[in-house]
Amino acid sequence: MKRTGRCPKCGSTDLLAVEPGLYNSFPTGLFSNARIQRYVCRSCGYTEEWIAEDSMEKLRHSWDAPPEK
Ligand SMILES: [Zn+2]
Repeated sequence: MKRTGRCPKCGSTDLLAVEPGLYNSFPTGLFSNARIQRYVCRSCGYTEEWIAEDSMEKLRHSWDAPPEK
């Protein structure tokens, strides 16, 4: 969907890309969040979520800290 520009469920190309905003985030640690880019099909309502490119580095290092004792 992100790369094909087509809904994998119904085949529609009427897609809406929702830019990452204040509430489009995914926790990667106690005090950090990765931003989420969403794609919505305006034909059937299917949504696809991707971590924004600029947050991928955070995600790769998420929950790496040793647990508190
Ligand atoms: Zn669809």
